[in-house]
Amino acid sequence: MNLSSRTIAILIALLVGGVLSTFAWVAPTLDFQQAALAMGITVAACFLLVYLSFEALLFREINNIYAGLENIKRKEFRRLSNKFLFRPEPLKRMRDEILDMAERKEREIEELKRLQALRREFLADVSHELKTPIFAAQGFLHTVLDGDMDDDFLRQKFLTKAATSLDTLDALVQDLVTISQLEKGVVRMRKQRFNLAELVREIFEQLEQKAAQRHVVLQLFPPTLHTEPLLVVADRNRIRQVLINLIDNAIKYGKEGGHVVVSLVEAQKVVRVAVRDDGAGIPKQHQNRIFERFYRIDKSRSRDSGGSGLGLAISKHIVEAHKSVIRVRSEVGVGTTLEFKLPKPRPAKEAPEVSAPEA
Ligand code: ADP
Repeated sequence: MNLSSRTIAILIALLVGGVLSTFAWVAPTLDFQQAALAMGITVAACFLLVYLSFEALLFREINNIYAGLENIKRKEFRRLSNKFLFRPEPLKRMRDEILDMAERKEREIEELKRLQALRREFLADVSHELKTPIFAAQGFLHTVLDGDMDDDFLRQKFLTKAATSLDTLDALVQDLVTISQLEKGVVRMRKQRFNLAELVREIFEQLEQKAAQRHVVLQLFPPTLHTEPLLVVADRNRIRQVLINLIDNAIKYGKEGGHVVVSLVEAQKVVRVAVRDDGAGIPKQHQNRIFERFYRIDKSRSRDSGGSGLGLAISKHIVEAHKSVIRVRSEVGVGTTLEFKLPKPRPAKEAPEVSAPEA
């Protein structure tokens, strides 16, 4: 029942009036005792009515708010009773506000807990990743120092291995610095107009040896881009980092003796960049997760091949900072394509035609 305070007041007034009029009508001439009795009954009736109204209106609602607070403490929002006999608006609003606030706070706490768990997981991953090259370098160096190694060739071999482990460590620390800066949002993209086709050709030269080791052929599509320019507006160094990661992965995880194709296809306002390999592919359940920090499908193989496990996470951040998204399409046994878009420069406004002065 939804009674307003005005209705209740009118009801009380009518009831009091009714009681008094009944007495006046039934006994127009009352002696003192009867008048006192009538007074007593009226007072009792009024008291009961007013008391019950207050009880229903205020105390019951307030008790309900307390019950609500108790439930909030126990995180049982839903168990709050909604069956109010009376529902004065300010109290209802207050109760709803408290509930709303509690739910919001609860969500914030859940989010903070999730972030804390992620941070803990990240720290555990970082220390694990750092330990691997440190222990390797330590092991090789101690073997050289402790053993009576007369063989120069062997000593050289161990020192080279220690140096390689330290190079891995250096790359990992650099990637960690990059990703933490990208996540903090302190890295600004220095957008400029540059020739993307030329950048890909440069990267092909840089990775040529690595590709040759796995007998992988690097191809640029369409082939006209070997001579023609293709302009985009982006941060050249950062996009270079993304392309190196993607092409390097395509060589590493692609088929030995296979092909890696980088295609740059022009659309109206953007250039679609795709790096395709014909390797083993990525099973569906891993496809979204490969962009997570340190996520590797084949843990041992990926780490052996020298990757920090941060390449795709960094690439995703860089591509998103260019207001684009990086997508993966892959079929097991067929190959993998990673793609994103970059904006083309806006066409220069056509200069207004200047008519030659008449002679
Ligand atoms: P990593 O340093 O391990 O290469 P990345 O972040 O670059 O780290 O890649 C994450 C994981 O995604 C890799 O360990 C690999 O398992 C998988 N991956 C990336 N690119 C490919 C690809 N082209 N084909 C198959 N798997 C890939």
